[in-house]
Amino acid sequence: MLLIKNGLLIDPVSGERPGDLLLAGGRIRLAGGRIKAPPSCEVLDASGLWVFPGFVDAHVHAREPGAEGAETLESAARAAAAGGVTTALLMPNTAPPLDSPSLLRRLRRRAKNLPASLLFSAAATRGRAGGAAAPLAALKRAGARAFTDDGSCLPRLLLPGLIRKAASLGLPLLDHPEDFRLTGDGVVNAGPAARRLGLPGIPPMAELRAVISGLLAAADNGPLHLQHLSLASSVAALRAAKASGWPVTGETCPHYFTLSDADIVADDADFKMKPPLRSEADRRAVLRGLADGTIDMIATDHAPHERRLKTLGLRRAPFGVIGLETLAPLCVTELALKGVVTKVRLAALLSLNPARLLGLRKKGRLAPGFDADVALLDPRRAWRVPERFVSGSSNSPFVGRRLRGWPAAAVLAGKIVFRAG
Ligand SMILES: [Zn+2]
Repeated sequence: MLLIKNGLLIDPVSGERPGDLLLAGGRIRLAGGRIKAPPSCEVLDASGLWVFPGFVDAHVHAREPGAEGAETLESAARAAAAGGVTTALLMPNTAPPLDSPSLLRRLRRRAKNLPASLLFSAAATRGRAGGAAAPLAALKRAGARAFTDDGSCLPRLLLPGLIRKAASLGLPLLDHPEDFRLTGDGVVNAGPAARRLGLPGIPPMAELRAVISGLLAAADNGPLHLQHLSLASSVAALRAAKASGWPVTGETCPHYFTLSDADIVADDADFKMKPPLRSEADRRAVLRGLADGTIDMIATDHAPHERRLKTLGLRRAPFGVIGLETLAPLCVTELALKGVVTKVRLAALLSLNPARLLGLRKKGRLAPGFDADVALLDPRRAWRVPERFVSGSSNSPFVGRRLRGWPAAAVLAGKIVFRAG
């Protein structure tokens, strides 16, 4: 039994209010008001802290199997807990790709008893190769919680069938919207930054074309979730699709609302990810999409890489940045404290909406009967992003940046899994 005292409780449905939170048996027992500690109950003082439902991150790469030098299930779970992320959906672009029930069962056994709840998405196509559908029903029976070929776009020829099959199984289908024919050998956003750095550019149309074809396929066939949206035009297309009642959702990542390609001032591959950092106008449009409800959730796209690979420079290093441990302070500093979104809307973006996408009906709220997953943030003091992370990798573009809203503690199923300091 755990009593969280004197915090500011932030629930995405009922709003925010000062009060206490009593956790027992892995569930929230009481929420709000003054609660007297039952005998032998552990007490966590949350004075001055914001108490959120544990964050649900729908986009995490844990690199196991295949690149354990960058991250493992265990280090990813510890990094998640340190970021207030109590549930993380892992992507299947491992080596080998997660497209078989036997590999999925083996990984799920290894993900037990970690400080964060790790859920697995499975590849939508065999080998993530885009040629034929993976055994989706068998993967669901083995425990898959979503399907995606993340890292690659879902093949447009198979997309209608994949949407209908995922819908019939009741699992979400997630698409990495990118037309590789248009990406070519690009490494940063096509435009002034690419010219200034003398690097090949990725045209915005590589994303927008796939976003539009995905939205059209959803209109005709069923639900589709669009990953890591980075463009003003993508946000506008998603807004228009929702206005037409199409069954579509979308996510963005903290780097797209915090940074633009103007922030790439050196040949530093810690600023290289897919999609690439876009223009300042795109960054502002992503903020508007978060504020007006067009974008449903914030995911990290946590993508660890070994330092030796990330020192190869923008042209040759792999795409991706880590994000679990900087998620909360970036959202607090760039969104809540600047008035872009309310704390209550932030709880929807970080907890309730991703929980709904993944069908986690007992997660995402601070209300009696919900899972006892909690993230406690400290909005008062500013700290610089450190050079060393809990994650097995350190490829972050935010090192040295002063941020508020760092996690003070995280609670999973009623147990404290992280405490700062
Ligand atoms: Zn992706």
